[in-house]
Amino acid sequence: MKIDLSVVIPIYNEEAGLIKLFDRLYPALDALELNYEIVFVNDGSRDRSPAMLADQFRLRPDVTRVVLFNGNYGQHMAILAGFSETRGEIVVTLDADLQNPPEEVRNLIAKMREGYDYVGSIRRERQDSAWRTYASRAMNRLREKITRIQMTDQGNMLRAYGRNVIDLINQCSEVNTFVPALAYTFARHPTEIVVEHEERAAGESKYSLYSLIRLNFDLVTGFSLMPLQFFSLLGIGLSFFSAALFVLLLARRFVFGAEVEGVFTLFAITFFLMGVILFGIGLVGEYVGRIYEQVRGRPRYVVQAILQQERSPAPTSLDPVFKG
Ligand code: UDP
Ligand code: MG
Repeated sequence: MKIDLSVVIPIYNEEAGLIKLFDRLYPALDALELNYEIVFVNDGSRDRSPAMLADQFRLRPDVTRVVLFNGNYGQHMAILAGFSETRGEIVVTLDADLQNPPEEVRNLIAKMREGYDYVGSIRRERQDSAWRTYASRAMNRLREKITRIQMTDQGNMLRAYGRNVIDLINQCSEVNTFVPALAYTFARHPTEIVVEHEERAAGESKYSLYSLIRLNFDLVTGFSLMPLQFFSLLGIGLSFFSAALFVLLLARRFVFGAEVEGVFTLFAITFFLMGVILFGIGLVGEYVGRIYEQVRGRPRYVVQAILQQERSPAPTSLDPVFKG
């Protein structure tokens, strides 16, 4: 059976909102009247989410598949694991917290059918805290300059990808990555649409300030070498500047004799330069860290079990198939 649509949803401690999600997601997808499958990926939840997913699998085994991780590997790893299980011609990603209304999937598909292979989305009115909306807008702008990846709204996961893009992503083995950006680099014909955004249905955001900063570093260093190159340029500029300063001070020494005035100015300049150097070392560390994780070559995630219907010969058994 050909599958038209796969929906991938990462789940991490979402027990409070899962029932609401099921109640809206399944009717919205049934209404599309095409062959679809939903791939839930449980990212090592420590609450009742995996049990609830298993229940839901029993209710709708025809369209539900559940990938269970043995630990928490992060939202993007969960989505990648989901991708490698998908069979649909179009793959849509969605958050479990209903911030992305499932009814919007219809609009994404309509846009894909116009011949695009990547449909991003822009939240009409973002329902998040003010500082997050503001910080993410600023980061968006900076990232766009550095990486050439055009995403008006990077923090939004409601997106549709064509099979060609998904197949390429499945060939990648990047450790820390950002799925929409990775997909964008493979898309031949990307576009964006405007979608609604709702407040989190239940539970709380899984992203702390720290993980947001991490995510943005991954987004920049994972897709561009420009920060490193910028530091080489800055280094050249500063060397010329300090050479000039040295000549100037030497000249003053001979014209006016030894002096201590201006020592504090020199200190100020020194501290500033030390800050620049520390930042540069940290930045190099970001890249070295990525290289280290890559050469270590550990599995990016570990799948404990997959709940899905036996595919061949006839889809009658309700027994989950375990593999992993
Ligand atoms: N998520 C995940 N693993 C994590 C963190 C989050 O699978 O380590 C999932 C989470 O269950 C949700 C989605 O990723 O479906 C987005 O998370 P959240 O809503 O907390 O992020 P925000 O909307 O605050 O950016
Ligand atoms: Mg959310």
